[in-house]
Amino acid sequence: EKFKDGLTKTRDNFSGKVNDLVARYRKVDEDFFEELEEILIGADVGFETVMELIDELKLEVKRKNIKDPAEVQSVISEKLVEIYEKAGKEEQSGLNIQSDGLTVILFVGVNGVGKTTTIGKLAHKFKTEGKSVLLAAGDTFRAGAIDQLEVWGERVGVDVIKQGEGSDPAAVMYDAVKAAKSRGVDILLCDTAGRLQNKVNLMKELEKVKRVIEREIPGAPHEVLLVLDATTGQNALIQTKTFKEATDVSGIVLTKLDGTAKGGIVLAIRNELNVPVKFVGLGEKMDDLQEFDSEKYVYGLFA
Ligand code: GDP
Repeated sequence: EKFKDGLTKTRDNFSGKVNDLVARYRKVDEDFFEELEEILIGADVGFETVMELIDELKLEVKRKNIKDPAEVQSVISEKLVEIYEKAGKEEQSGLNIQSDGLTVILFVGVNGVGKTTTIGKLAHKFKTEGKSVLLAAGDTFRAGAIDQLEVWGERVGVDVIKQGEGSDPAAVMYDAVKAAKSRGVDILLCDTAGRLQNKVNLMKELEKVKRVIEREIPGAPHEVLLVLDATTGQNALIQTKTFKEATDVSGIVLTKLDGTAKGGIVLAIRNELNVPVKFVGLGEKMDDLQEFDSEKYVYGLFA
């Protein structure tokens, strides 16, 4: 239900237009496909993905000898799910959580996308599942970032390992990993600085942070989650490319899906950059985070 509610704006934009299109056309012709193409691009599905979908749809219409535009509508959702799942359903959802010992999750992404909020929400989720959680204030660059993480820590009831503003993020990570190990914590969630202005610096900082974590815990970090703001549309694609170059991104958290009519960006990220969306943010509150599910997502666009 939450998932569906979060997609209200996208659904109104997308399926409203598709319904209108289907109502206006008597037959499935080239003009029909051209209008459909525009609707999909308008929902930020991404150019390459739209082209692929339209090609697939044309083939299917031919194969099944579909004449009625209304029939195309159900094929659209089928094909959207197919495109999303092409790269493997099993790796698309869920996190790589260690059944025994510490799991370290690193969060990357530019400022303002909702990184701190997502860390707080996930901390709450893990705590609810009975796991012990610790937070690492690795964004020592942005003024207020440490305080903000502490506010979430208090709200959720988990400790934050920190140093002063301007300190070395790798040193904070070192402290955090040590603390997590000695306290026998299940999950360590690590914030990082989100500056993109200088890609070389970003890369160096992330590499250093990762190296410290790896040295203390072989195999860690177990996830590197890139947090993206769905309302930034195609910009989110560019950010994904940049962060993929800087570090090994294992999954995406797409925030503010509730605030955009362009939720099609999920498909573009998956299909064009081959990174699975693992969670979506559907609001500002503690429990406004949902595990991503491609079928629920696609059917939420229509139903
Ligand atoms: P950070 O700079 O990346 O750490 O971003 P913050 O966590 O401070 O979030 C920036 C703003 O986005 C805050 O006002 C959050 O409440 C808001 N926000 C974060 N996630 C979501 C979401 O899923 N939906 C909505 N509507 N707002 C969100």
